[in-house]
Amino acid sequence: MNQKTNQATIDTHSVMYITKRPELVFVEGQGSWLVDQNGKKYLDFLQGWAVNCLGHSNPGIISALEQQARKVINPSPAFYNQPMIDLANLLTDNSCFNKVFFANSGAEANEGAIKLARKWGKMHKNKAYEIITFNHSFHGRTLATMSASGKDGWDTMFAPQVPGFPKAELNDIASVEKLITDKTVAVMLEPVQGEGGVIPASHEFMKQLRELTKKHQILLIVDEVQAGCGRTGKLFAHQLYDISPDIMTLGKGIGGGVPLAALLATDEVACFEPGDQGGTYNGNPLMTAVGCSVINQLLAPGFLEEVIAKGEYLSQLLLELSKELGLEGERGEGLLRALILNRDIGPEIVERARNLEPIGLLLNSPRPNLLRFMPALNISREELKQMVDMLREIIKSI
Ligand SMILES: *Cc1c(COP(=O)(O)O)cnc(C)c1O
Repeated sequence: MNQKTNQATIDTHSVMYITKRPELVFVEGQGSWLVDQNGKKYLDFLQGWAVNCLGHSNPGIISALEQQARKVINPSPAFYNQPMIDLANLLTDNSCFNKVFFANSGAEANEGAIKLARKWGKMHKNKAYEIITFNHSFHGRTLATMSASGKDGWDTMFAPQVPGFPKAELNDIASVEKLITDKTVAVMLEPVQGEGGVIPASHEFMKQLRELTKKHQILLIVDEVQAGCGRTGKLFAHQLYDISPDIMTLGKGIGGGVPLAALLATDEVACFEPGDQGGTYNGNPLMTAVGCSVINQLLAPGFLEEVIAKGEYLSQLLLELSKELGLEGERGEGLLRALILNRDIGPEIVERARNLEPIGLLLNSPRPNLLRFMPALNISREELKQMVDMLREIIKSI
């Protein structure tokens, strides 16, 4: 079947228009590769938006889904189930946190973090409720998490906002200190700003931030929805900085592609009481069984070391490319990286990469002057090299 007739059969009029999608339907995936309805293959550096940390169709995830689906899919959030308990233990055994609440999306986990901090403020900080967040940050698309986010234009999009999220500048401790008042209950940040353009918090800043929040007895919340779960080469991104936050949220990678997220807190901070927090699907065994498989695979001996090594390899390839083509370098942590372009050609590169024949390349440009790479953590060096070679040809052609 030729492409034209096939494309004409895609009738999308019932799908709500919330983003401009290309005229493609993806039908299969394997590792770092996706296949569309015409049989064309794509090297996938989006991976469901940094979600499929183990690539497409990971055998461990498939088997967790199959086995759990045969046992029990959802006994109700009002009862314990074994994968929920196992995953909570896995997460607390491997972090500085003591308690876990499971959610279905990063935004929902962050809503939970905001509620938990406000509750803690009500109990221990004379009803303090303000959470200092950062310009260019991204925390999700619910009303509160949009208000917490520092994305340009989001303050007026669905006005009025949820109040109580003053904005500081990442890597500028004075800008945080200036905003602290007796109403402040927490500071919340992404250790590596993802949607903002892959901007890591500096080591110095994270250390200062932990000291500052301790000094004022306010909470430190890390949103690791994108940077957590092995993405930076550490199981959790804040471990890069050798600090212990009070609250952490996880999403994306923890589910390896299925909807799963988590809110973690220390015992001192985990002050929810029955009735404060919940959700129909929270901790359902079908998703938490997948989470167990994902975390166990990330913790397999040598896995995270390989992420670091491959991150360094990708960094080196991108630096060489940058030098060769006169671009402005690269940055990131582990396998969350960005190539800084010298012009606003990001969207054009993304378009051309997808349209390459016979093999396409899926990329993302969160800002017009840069490309972001969020491949599967188990991608091969050959695939990293192949991506950079494809990218070289595209940039040269523009
Ligand atoms: C993607 C993302 C979110 C939102 O997660 P959803 O699952 O889309 O709700 C929140 N914070 C960060 C840092 C993210 O990258």
